[in-house]
Amino acid sequence: MSDLKVAIAGAGGRMGGANIRAVTATPGIVVATAFDRAGAPAIGKDAGGTEPIGVIVTDDVNAALTGVDAILDFTAPANSVALANEAARRGLIHIIGTTGCTEADEAAIAAAAANGARIVMAGNFSLGLNLLLGLVKQAAAALPGFDIEILEMHHNKKVDAPSGTALMLGEAAAAGRNITLKDHSERGRDGHTGARQPGSIGFASLRGGSVIGEHKVILAGASERIELNHIADNRALFAEGAVRAALWARDQRPGLYSMADVLGFN
Ligand code: NAD
Repeated sequence: MSDLKVAIAGAGGRMGGANIRAVTATPGIVVATAFDRAGAPAIGKDAGGTEPIGVIVTDDVNAALTGVDAILDFTAPANSVALANEAARRGLIHIIGTTGCTEADEAAIAAAAANGARIVMAGNFSLGLNLLLGLVKQAAAALPGFDIEILEMHHNKKVDAPSGTALMLGEAAAAGRNITLKDHSERGRDGHTGARQPGSIGFASLRGGSVIGEHKVILAGASERIELNHIADNRALFAEGAVRAALWARDQRPGLYSMADVLGFN
């Protein structure tokens, strides 16, 4: 089988760089093109940065998507929706790590998947975190009376809150309780809020320094507390998961998949 040719979206970004390093280190997949938004500092430079790979970052999306099999996309919601439509039109694999998408963005991405794109979308591509989702669902189901709070911390450049991962953990807890997260989440408390809503799932977001991603799910009962933690030490783990997803999607039919599908947890 020939190597899977990927286009790296947001090549100059933190995850873009991690994705380039992960693809370069993995047999069977190559960086064919790399692109970023017009005016981004990476345009015109080698995508490998200090370790050149012979691929120049372009702002010409059409050129970057021509002749490739897959897009690795950790960028911004509007761009990910536009790329999903391109993936549908061109029959590409589209790996979406972008977080902060609205319901309308997610609906547009699902429509692109129904129209011919093979999309794997996840708020977190790490193996450990995806395993934790199952544990959270199980704990939430087993401890119906416990209050669930989700605490996350990320670096000071992160633009969306709560994190995509915190929302995935919230969805897992809601699934364990057979409720919808949308109708039961408490986001950010400030001032005279009144007592905690029984059965709600609370979120708190901390931002600072260079923290890559830390999540804690707290299940608080009347006289005991369980805390389930995940700490990402390195961005490489997300990129390795994204590469694994791209190689897995090669053998799938068009559709919308999660990391749990890739890892066989479903
Ligand atoms: P970043 O700001 O370092 O990089 C984003 C890159 O996307 C930048 O280079 C930016 O110029 C580029 N970009 C923005 N709009 C674009 C467009 N229209 N066309 C092409 N490129 C465009 O951010 P980051 O830390 O790399 O994170 C990127 C996204 O990935 C965020 O949504 C973040 O939350 C998410 N993320 C997801 C996971 C996961 O496992 N799913 C892990 C880490 C980060």
